[in-house]
Amino acid sequence: MLNVDLGRLYRTGGHEIDEDLHAGAVDWDEGDTAPAGPLHVRLDLRPAGRDVVARGVLEGTVEAECRRCLKPARRRISEDVSLVFRNDAEPDDPDDYPLPERGSTLDLWPAVREQWLLVAPSFLECESPCRGLCPRCGADLDEEDCGCEVSEADERWGPLLALAGGDASPMTEEVADGRSEEEGIEAEKA
Ligand SMILES: [Zn+2]
Ligand SMILES: [Zn+2]
Repeated sequence: MLNVDLGRLYRTGGHEIDEDLHAGAVDWDEGDTAPAGPLHVRLDLRPAGRDVVARGVLEGTVEAECRRCLKPARRRISEDVSLVFRNDAEPDDPDDYPLPERGSTLDLWPAVREQWLLVAPSFLECESPCRGLCPRCGADLDEEDCGCEVSEADERWGPLLALAGGDASPMTEEVADGRSEEEGIEAEKA
């Protein structure tokens, strides 16, 4: 599917790829931010000497829980890519990939997967700005104003505390203790 016959490419001078890669047709690793739905790959390949230059677009949709309110969030990704495949690929260049050492088939998948992972966001927010969940009572602040008084420390821990059951008080006590200790040290120095 993403295999390119290099002999043919050098002979004909060009090859176009326009594919929808569905989950299951390609090997995403565990932990990859794989797209929800197909990954659309459009690439125009041309030989440049013995090298191969590939230019085109990767398109797909990322779906995840909003990191603030945990509601479903999605974002459409459309990213221009420009890759070079060569025998002496520069390992530090993220757009440089090796040509196969043996055989005449170039598998584009490792490069396509890596390029997608470079641009796919590892977390999403549903809409900006998302107000998230109240760290005290767990209310969805985009939908209601619960009226809880929330300190800055609460806000930072909000999503985690809401997951853990919504009781913010032990955490705030810890933060308060830490502060008074620091102040105490400062006072001794002075
Ligand atoms: Zn949200
Ligand atoms: Zn609340």
